[in-house]
Amino acid sequence: MKLPEYFSPDAVQRIAELSEVHETPFLALDLSVVETKYTELNAGFPNAEIFYAVKANPANEVIERLASLGSNFDIASPQELDKVLKFGVAPERISYGNTIKKRSAIRYFYERGVRLFATDSEADLCNIAKYAPGSSVYVRVLTDGSEGADWPLSRKFGCNPEMAVELHVLARDLGLDPYGVSFHVGSQQRDIDVWDGAIAKVKVIFDRLNSEHDIRLKMINMGGGFPANYLQKTNEFCIYAQEITRFLQEDFSEEVPRIILEPGRSLVGDAGVIVSEVVLISRKSSTALERWVYTDIGMFNGLIETVGESIKYPIGSSRGGPEEEVILAGPTCDSMDIMYENHMYPLPLSLEIGDHVYWYSTGAYTTSYSSIEFNGFPPLKYYII
Ligand SMILES: *Cc1c(COP(=O)(O)O)cnc(C)c1O
Repeated sequence: MKLPEYFSPDAVQRIAELSEVHETPFLALDLSVVETKYTELNAGFPNAEIFYAVKANPANEVIERLASLGSNFDIASPQELDKVLKFGVAPERISYGNTIKKRSAIRYFYERGVRLFATDSEADLCNIAKYAPGSSVYVRVLTDGSEGADWPLSRKFGCNPEMAVELHVLARDLGLDPYGVSFHVGSQQRDIDVWDGAIAKVKVIFDRLNSEHDIRLKMINMGGGFPANYLQKTNEFCIYAQEITRFLQEDFSEEVPRIILEPGRSLVGDAGVIVSEVVLISRKSSTALERWVYTDIGMFNGLIETVGESIKYPIGSSRGGPEEEVILAGPTCDSMDIMYENHMYPLPLSLEIGDHVYWYSTGAYTTSYSSIEFNGFPPLKYYII
């Protein structure tokens, strides 16, 4: 088994052992990789605070490790909040980053001491004022994140800059603390320049609120978007850190506000390997050129981000020798459950039913996206190595 070089020989050994003992599919998660990524992010942005986006991988062990490293947490629901509080994380280290929330949820967060809320609409802001009085709010702005991002998070979230200004004025009038602006450039963002445009937008909002309304914002939440190692090349993380820091300094010169980052994918993605088994190999006719390889992992038990072939995971197998391109599909009775058909992965011709196929960099958005029992298949299990 060949693994990316950030996995230690020990980890490789452990994954091999797990593969013998446990039924596939499962995710093997190496917490030392999470720790390395966290340290790297901290070093790249020494003046920023990290709020881990729990949805990327909500495993208790991941939360515990990041909490012990000093991470803060970006939370989207009361259930996630309970989970993180269980590890003794103080409410000051938590932000409620979901702009779509029930009133009861706002109250729930407030009662547990959370005082930092995202918003992007008047109705939500009024709810925050009522159920979390006096809290600090940051307004999420729309970005052009569909450009360059393999998993866009735009359109649904954020408002335009004009409305961001109005919401902050309203926040003050409602007795809230107009605190900052957030954006998310889209997940797995390969175009670093998108941050430049987003930061420039934020700067305009800061300036207008200062000059026209005497409101001085204190924080920029730059969201996530940093990459994991998939097939499509990205710049090294240090280039991201260097460029984004330069954009901030160009726009804010000496007065760079408090900076929050909300990484999900980049912290946990490369820490995971899904071990799967080949269920079937077939051709659709006696003259068909391509082989179909069906694995016991598919779109509904962990690989939903292959929809539209958006995320292209690196793949390996337990065999060697000459390779041929194949179509890769999952085990369920849904014809949507085809991971890769246009981008065909080469796999060894010697590959047989029962062999293992490894899906690298699958630590993010896999277990958390897995269905409960579609066709009876259980949610994706994980083991810490
Ligand atoms: C999902 C999400 C993130 C994490 O994004 P990644 O691209 O996985 O780093 C950060 N912030 C918010 C508000 C999110 O919804």
